[in-house]
Amino acid sequence: MFELTQNKIHDEKRQGEAFASLAVSGLGQKKFYIESYGCAMNFADSEVVASILLEKGYGITQNYEQADLILLNTCSIREKAELTVRKRLTEFRKVKKENPGLLVGVLGCMAERLKSKFIEEEKLVDLVVGPDAYRTLPGLIEEAETGQKGVNVLLSREETYGDISPIRLNSNGVTAFVSIMRGCNNMCSFCVVPFTRGRERSRDATSIINECKDLFENGFREVTLLGQNVDSYLTTDPSTNGEGSVTFANLLEMVAKISPLLRVRFSTSHPKDLTDEVLFTMAKYDNICKYIHLPVQSGSTRILQMMNRTYTREWYISKINRIREILPGCGLSTDMITGFCSETEEDHKETLSLMEYCEYELAYMYYYSERPGTLAKRRYKDDVPEEIKKRRLQEVIALHRIQSLAGMQKEIGKTAKVLIEGNSKKSDNHWAGRSDNNKVVVFPKNNNDLRKGSYADVVITSCTAGTLKGEIKK
Ligand code: SAM
Ligand code: SF4
Repeated sequence: MFELTQNKIHDEKRQGEAFASLAVSGLGQKKFYIESYGCAMNFADSEVVASILLEKGYGITQNYEQADLILLNTCSIREKAELTVRKRLTEFRKVKKENPGLLVGVLGCMAERLKSKFIEEEKLVDLVVGPDAYRTLPGLIEEAETGQKGVNVLLSREETYGDISPIRLNSNGVTAFVSIMRGCNNMCSFCVVPFTRGRERSRDATSIINECKDLFENGFREVTLLGQNVDSYLTTDPSTNGEGSVTFANLLEMVAKISPLLRVRFSTSHPKDLTDEVLFTMAKYDNICKYIHLPVQSGSTRILQMMNRTYTREWYISKINRIREILPGCGLSTDMITGFCSETEEDHKETLSLMEYCEYELAYMYYYSERPGTLAKRRYKDDVPEEIKKRRLQEVIALHRIQSLAGMQKEIGKTAKVLIEGNSKKSDNHWAGRSDNNKVVVFPKNNNDLRKGSYADVVITSCTAGTLKGEIKK
């Protein structure tokens, strides 16, 4: 049974997911097993890692007990994410005891943050490889096979893995993530990403377009262009001998032109970089989904300044107004942090009132977790008690639930253009897919010629908190 979980940028249901792409299993002699944690960028990176290892003759397995190499692609964004990985590692100890030749590798942000300290702290770990060093994995594995520990956490200013064709893991065959840039140059004071993923760099436009075309030719009907800050995408235009440049708006247009049948989404937008040019490009093409993930983090200007977000509450609201003016009905989602250093009840109320104004369809909500090495850790005291952080988070979540249900109810009676991603979770007699504004829609199949990857006009008749239900339009 298929679950529509793959379009979320940070999906709790996918944490620790091992891939299930049987089509590529068993090709090589030695087998690797990979689990991914954290955001969609990490899941996309695991597909690059899989491609590098398959190229070197490794096979793939879904069962870690049969693996010669276990890889965990990790996340450092909050302390809880790191604790989950530590706990998971203890579960591999037993397997390693039974199979001493087994190698265990830690990839991604936690590897980058802890470097060789990881090997000192977790004796069973043989490999520690940062997000820019995946090309060196085969060499590091060879080293580790001789009993040496393999560590490469060098960050790069150039690496984009642009030439590597990712192996689609756990793919539904309809929707795919495409990385367009890596790293981040914004120094939000709470965030560890600039330290674990390095400087921002954009992948060349030609390789992005080729990957998207290739996906389309292989039956995919939706791409999500991925980066920490997609709106600051910038490369030189190959058709102008390096003289012109390609902005994010140009790139969006190039991808949208591949085919009107290919839906285009993108994430994440930093509010300061989302330009009118991008909004007008979205308005111009029906196949660019009218949905923007625009993390705000807090509704209080004072806290936003301490977070180094570079905008005020009023400026963010004016950006929302501009989106509504150029793209009426555009779906909006956000990220929110409660209990950041020095946050008062007043600040918290401003967050709630901002949410009321913005009416987000979806929100990723967290309480503040102080991270080593960040500006906030160095500058401010993490002085909001945990129970207050959590209580405020509950209030934010409760408001969001009311708002998102109201958003779902507003869809009743409307017609949604749905891209079918597979059978519904509950019944093979129903299709499940997503509307342009990213809502899950389920409807009866009714014996017509629709299939996975088809579009259907569906009249919405009812809803639950997470799903719209409807009937094919007659
Ligand atoms: N680049 C994106 C942006 O600027 O919005 C977000 C990237 S980050 C991987 C995803 C989200 O994690 C952030 O938007 C923020 O809400 C949350 N986050 C980051 N650091 C955090 C921290 N120290 N504590 C709690 N939440 C955090
Ligand atoms: Fe972190 Fe800010 Fe960069 Fe997002 S924009 S990855 S929150 S530093």
